[in-house]
Formats: sequence, C-alpha cells, structure tokens
Amino acid sequence: MTAFISVLLFAFGLIFGSFLNVVIFRYHPDRSLFAAGPLGGRSHCRSCNAQLAWYELIPVVSFAIQRARCRHCGAPLSWQYPLVELLTGFIFLTPLYFYDAHATVFSLWTGGIWTVAFASFLVLAAIDYYWFIIPDELNIFIAALGAVRIAVEYYFHTFGAFAGSFIGSYAELFGLRGDVLTNHIAGALFGLALIGVIIAVTRGRGMGVGDLKLAGALGVLFGWPDVIFVLAFGFVLGSLYAVGVLVRRSKGMKDSVPFGPFLVAGATALVFYGHAILTWYFGIFLS
Ligand SMILES: [Zn+2]
Repeated sequence: MTAFISVLLFAFGLIFGSFLNVVIFRYHPDRSLFAAGPLGGRSHCRSCNAQLAWYELIPVVSFAIQRARCRHCGAPLSWQYPLVELLTGFIFLTPLYFYDAHATVFSLWTGGIWTVAFASFLVLAAIDYYWFIIPDELNIFIAALGAVRIAVEYYFHTFGAFAGSFIGSYAELFGLRGDVLTNHIAGALFGLALIGVIIAVTRGRGMGVGDLKLAGALGVLFGWPDVIFVLAFGFVLGSLYAVGVLVRRSKGMKDSVPFGPFLVAGATALVFYGHAILTWYFGIFLS
C-alpha cells in the first residue's frame, strides 16, 4: 500500500514539477509571479515556438527520449525540465516522512505544509539563480505558510518544550518555548536582525534586501531557535560552494552566486537532518 501511494505521489509530483517549470521559465521581474496571462496558453518550444504535443510534455520521459533536444528545431532543452520535475517528485513524498503510525490529522497537516514549503523553495532557488531576485510573492507565501503552521500548532496543542522544533530536545536550551506565536515572531526578528547586520557591515555586497525578507519569512516558518540553524546551514553550504569555485576556477560555476538557493537548501537540511547534525556536533565536544 505504501509503495502504491509513493508511486502515485511521485507521479503527481512529476506532473506538478512541469507546472513549476512553466512558472520558473515564464517569470519576469516586471510582472507578478502569479500573473495569469503568461501562465495561460499551450506549451511551446522556447527556441522555435512550435506547439508541443502531449507526448512531448511527459515529465522526464519526453526529455530522455528526445535526448534533451526539441523534436522540431533540434535546439537543446534545458536540464531544468527533468531536474525540477524529479525534485518535485521527491518533494511530493514529504507527507510519507511526516505521516505517523497513528495517522493523526496533525501529521497530515505537517506533511502538507512542508510539501508546499519545499515546492516554493524550489521555485525560489531557481528564480534567484537566474535573476538574482527573490520575488516578494514567494517571501509572502513562505511567511503565510508559517502563519498556517503556527495556527496548526495552536489548534492541536503540539508546541512545547520538546516539540515543534527540528532540533528536537536541543531546542529547550534556547528558551522561548512557552508560546508558539511568540516563538515564531522571535524567529522572524532574529532572521531579519542577523541578515540586516550582515548587509550593513558588508554594505550590501553578497546579500540583498531579498535575502533579508527571506530570512524574516523563514523565521516565521521555522521559529526560534530553528531559524539560527537554517541560516547557519545556509552559510556553511554557501561557503563550501565558494571554496569550490576558488579551488576549481571552473567556468561552469558562476563567480557571483545568489544566496537564496543556499538559504532554502539550509532550511531543507534542517528539516531532515537538523537533529542528527546537532547530535553529531555536540558529540564532538562531549566525547
Ligand atoms: Zn524547437
């Protein structure tokens, strides 16, 4: 049964991933991310404008069969197509990760919230990668998702000293676990304050207002102290990439990189590995 549901969820994810590809490719800084006009209409080749048949629009499969080329003009197809489709496929498995043996309604809500969060992270990372812009719509969306999470935690009375954090019981060391709303507001303020100070000190080199807003939005979504680790993991991943650029000096790697993709990668790492990473980290000092 679980295998069947997994395949079904993954297939839905692949299809939803094709939709996200359209959202990413049709984004332009001059218009709203969700502008209805550019999202409507049939799918066309981005090079020759030929209208695509259904068999050219099958996620991953069409790309593989056509060997990454357009059937009409032979222009290379972006690897973004299968990459975003596959990632969305895996993102749609998120509910299985949160679904518990008791099948509680809370676990369904949590799985749903994080599925939607990761999908928005993916769109955000791609758009920031291409444009060096994080659309306000995405930051507002992530903050709104945080508000939903707060409401759900309130409704199910699940927030507490040992619950509601991805670092588990370590969260208690950081305090502020009396009230979920206070906790998440503190998370947002910390995110804004830390990135704000960094922007002021570096005079805006490297990070911009979009990153500031994203740190605030992630603070609303993750709360305190999780937002610390979202930012810390983001900095570590960004630094590793920067070192890679310096060492390899390869042309494939851009010299200037947006920070948004690393922040959402850090956020994703915290959700799945936060507790394990902290256990490993504290183990170094306690052994
Ligand atoms: Zn074409």
